[in-house]
Amino acid sequence: MKESLLANPVFAMACQQFDEVADLIQIPQGERERTKWPKRLITVSFPVHMDDGRTEVFFGYRVQHHLSSGPTKGGLRYHPEVGLGEVAALAMWMSWKCALAGLPYGGGKGGVACDPATLSLRENENLTRRYTQEMLPFISPETDVMAPDMGTNEQTMAWMMDTYSMNVGHSVQGIVTGKPIRIGGSLGRRESTGRGVAWLALRVMEELNMPAQGATAIIQGYGNVGSITALALAEQGVRIIGISDAYGAIYNTKGIDVMELYRYMQTNKSICGFPSAEAFDPSLLLEQPCDILVPAAVSRVIHAGNAAKLKCKILAEGANGPTTPEADEIINQRGDIYLIPDILCNSGGVIVSYFEWVQGLQRFFWKEPEIFEKLYGMLGNAHRQVRKKSKELNISNRKAALAIGISNVVEAKHIRGLFP
Ligand code: NAD
Repeated sequence: MKESLLANPVFAMACQQFDEVADLIQIPQGERERTKWPKRLITVSFPVHMDDGRTEVFFGYRVQHHLSSGPTKGGLRYHPEVGLGEVAALAMWMSWKCALAGLPYGGGKGGVACDPATLSLRENENLTRRYTQEMLPFISPETDVMAPDMGTNEQTMAWMMDTYSMNVGHSVQGIVTGKPIRIGGSLGRRESTGRGVAWLALRVMEELNMPAQGATAIIQGYGNVGSITALALAEQGVRIIGISDAYGAIYNTKGIDVMELYRYMQTNKSICGFPSAEAFDPSLLLEQPCDILVPAAVSRVIHAGNAAKLKCKILAEGANGPTTPEADEIINQRGDIYLIPDILCNSGGVIVSYFEWVQGLQRFFWKEPEIFEKLYGMLGNAHRQVRKKSKELNISNRKAALAIGISNVVEAKHIRGLFP
């Protein structure tokens, strides 16, 4: 019954990961159940005025996974296939991610089933404001704080903050993170996820004695995370040889000029047609030889069908849930790929979101070098913990990261006890 409400392959994957780690670290049955199931599952339908005069009804979701360590925290996704099960899985992963990084948050995630590429700016604003309105009884800077994810951005967060603030009668900066700097956003938040992914990949290269200069990378997804990761890796001399987005892929073994691509993207909505690279089959891109492979788009793109064909040395998971448990198994058995698991690899975003929330609550804003110094300090600490646990228990980096995150949540719940 519990499972059927959330029936979805991404949720099944998050549960499988949880169950395996719960067995590994021997979480007692009672604690297991209360740690696994999301606390609040909110589904709303809401009408939006469209430009052509129609009224269209959209479905929106928010899952607040656990409230034992502070507010829930996590992104809001606009995508045609968003559903409750997927959002619940993403909220669960946010819980382990925040706990691994040592942030005072539970995991949250939201979504609206829509295709943002087909919405006009006005329709997008109407939809965002109405979704926020529907969420008002469930959110506040102390209960649930949203941020951008796939299909949403700083502008989305600005509309959310405005809608919430208009309702309460004063400006509330702490209600969202990832908002524009002019209205209380943090320096570095936009770049934080991608720069964190690149920073960790570069640390791993040092660990493996691989020089960055002349190394190669392939990036799937060229939005916020993928593009910033590419720019940050290229800055250190890494050649970006392949890139894909929702519309296609480009490839150039000599290296794609990502600064030129950045300018190209200002006028073109896709990487497709970029003159200094060849068009490529996106379904084969992940299997091309490279040093660093960065999935930075949707989940479950590395699966039983392609895991054995990967030819990368480092798999840096910018996206959430890009690798299925079956693929994990194959990668573990191969033993020739260093995997930086999603809940560690892309945690730079939520870490700087935390900094933004703290700055907003204190009305005291930090300079950029301070933000990146603190970010890399926390990423380095989480990475060291993962390596230590992995060696201690002779388990994969993914299992080690999950084991740390999950056991931190179990401990918080245990210490607080059960009410009433
Ligand atoms: P975005 O909307 O800015 O970009 C998404 C990109 O993926 C776009 O280029 C889109 O064209 C591409 N894409 C979509 N479907 C694709 C497909 N099937 N194949 C290839 N490319 C595809 O989103 P984002 O914020 O960069 O998020 C990307 C991933 O990173 C998501 O999994 C998200 O949950 C995760 N993430 C984001 C953040 C953040 O701070 N934005 C933080 C942590 C994790």
